[in-house]
Amino acid sequence: MTISFEVIHKDIMGRCGRLKVGERTVRTPALLPVINPHLQIITPREMQDMGVEAVITNAYIFNMSRTYRDAALRDGLHSVLDFDGVIMTDSGSFQLSVYGDVEISNLETLAFQKAIGSDIIVPLDIPTPPGADRSTAEEDLAVTMERIREACMKFRDSSPAAPVQGGIFPDLREAAAREVRETGAVFCPIGAVVPLMESYRYRELVQVVLAAKKGLSPASCVHLFGAGHPSMFALAVAMGCDLFDSAAYALYAKEGRYLTPHGSLKIDELAELPCACGICRTHTAEEIRKSEERERLLALHNLQVTLAEIARIRQAVQDGTLWELVDERCRSHPRLLDGYRELLRHTPMLESSDRVSKRRFFYRGAETCSRTEVLRYHQMITRIGVGRRVLITFDQRVAEGFDTILYFKPPFGPYPPGLGETFPIGQSEVPEWDEEMVRSGCAGIRRLMEENPGSGFVIWCGERWGGLVTRELPSAEVWCEPV
Ligand SMILES: [Zn+2]
Repeated sequence: MTISFEVIHKDIMGRCGRLKVGERTVRTPALLPVINPHLQIITPREMQDMGVEAVITNAYIFNMSRTYRDAALRDGLHSVLDFDGVIMTDSGSFQLSVYGDVEISNLETLAFQKAIGSDIIVPLDIPTPPGADRSTAEEDLAVTMERIREACMKFRDSSPAAPVQGGIFPDLREAAAREVRETGAVFCPIGAVVPLMESYRYRELVQVVLAAKKGLSPASCVHLFGAGHPSMFALAVAMGCDLFDSAAYALYAKEGRYLTPHGSLKIDELAELPCACGICRTHTAEEIRKSEERERLLALHNLQVTLAEIARIRQAVQDGTLWELVDERCRSHPRLLDGYRELLRHTPMLESSDRVSKRRFFYRGAETCSRTEVLRYHQMITRIGVGRRVLITFDQRVAEGFDTILYFKPPFGPYPPGLGETFPIGQSEVPEWDEEMVRSGCAGIRRLMEENPGSGFVIWCGERWGGLVTRELPSAEVWCEPV
C-alpha cells in the first residue's frame, strides 16, 4: 500500500493534512478509535457514520482469535470489521511483552498484518517503559531499529510504519527519529508514551515528542501512539502530532466516566450533562446511569466528544488560533500546564515551523509572552530602520525633535505606525496592560536599541510604567510625566 502525506495548513508545529493510503484518504489531525473485535461496543460501521475515517486494531488479538483469525485471512479486515476507511494494525508488541507466552517474529507479524489486508502495518517494535534505565533503552532501541530496517527491506511495497522509541531519553529519541528518517518511512508513530500520559507526566511527554520531531522529516506523518484523552490533543497537535489512537472512549465508559474536552467526570456524580451530542440531548444523567445500555451510551458520548475536539483543533489550525486552544485546554489540569510551559521553553524550535500570519492573537496571561509570535516579532524588530533620535511613545502622543517615532504594543514592543494594521500588531487583543506584557515589550525595545547603538532612545511611558521601564532599559531616557 503506498502511503503519502501532504500538509495543507500549519499553525505552531501543528498541521492539517491529507494522509493517502492507497485509494483511501484521511484528513488529519485524526483520531483512530481502537477496535477490539471481541468487544465492539460501537461498531466500526457506526463509527464511519460518525465521520471516522481510520481505525486501528491489534494484529496480535486477531492472530490469537479462534473466531476472527481465519475470517480475517480469508475475507480481509475491511470485510470482517465492516469498515471502508483506513485500517491500521498494531503489531501487538505490548501484548507480547505482557502475555509473552507466544513467540511471533517480526517478519511473521508483518506477513500476518499484510495477509489480513491491513492498510498500515507496524513492525514488532519494543516499547521501552519510562522506568527503564539508559542501557535498557539503548538495547531495546537497537532491536527496534533492526526490525524497522528489516520491515523496510522485506515489505517495502507495504510502506511499513517506523516507530520512534528511546524511552524517556530525549537524545535517544532524536537519534532514533533520525535513523527512522533515513529509512524513508512516511508514517512514523511515537511509541511507549502511554505510561507518561497515564501518570500525567506531560512535561516529559513534551520533551520526548519534541526530541523525536527534531529528528524526523517534517514531511512525515506522526502518530502519537495511545494518546487517549481529548484534553491533551491540542498540546500534541501543537508539537506536530497528526494522528491519535484511542481506546479511552471505551475504557472510560466501562468505568462509568464521562469525557469532556477538559477532563473526565463520573456519571454517578452528574446531575446535568454538559454536552451537545445526541446522547446527552436525549437522555438525562439519571437515565444514562440506570440504562442497561449505560456503557454503550457513555462510549457513544465519549467518542463524539473526542471527535468534536479533533474537529475544533483542525479549525484552529486553519484559523491560526491553535495557541489559544492549547492555552485553554492546558489550564484544565496543573500537570497539563507543566506540559504547556515546557512547550514554551522550545519556542525557537516551534517558531521555525509556525505560520507568518494568523487570524488573531489573544493575550491570555504571562505564558503568552513566550509564544512564537512574540519571539518572531522580537527577531523582526531589528529590521526596523531608525534615525539618530528615536521616540517610543506608549500612548501615541508625539513630540517634536525626533527622527523616528514608534508606537508601543505589549507584549511585542515598538512598531512603526505604518505596521499598525498588520499581523501581529493589528490582530492582537490585549487586556489592560500588566507587568509581564510590558516587560516583554521592553525586551523588544532592548533588541532595537542593541541593533542601533548609535541612536538615542526616549521612552515616553507615563507615570504608571516609569519604574518598570527604567529598570528594564537603564540606558534609555525615560519620560514619566506628560510634557
Ligand atoms: Zn454528549
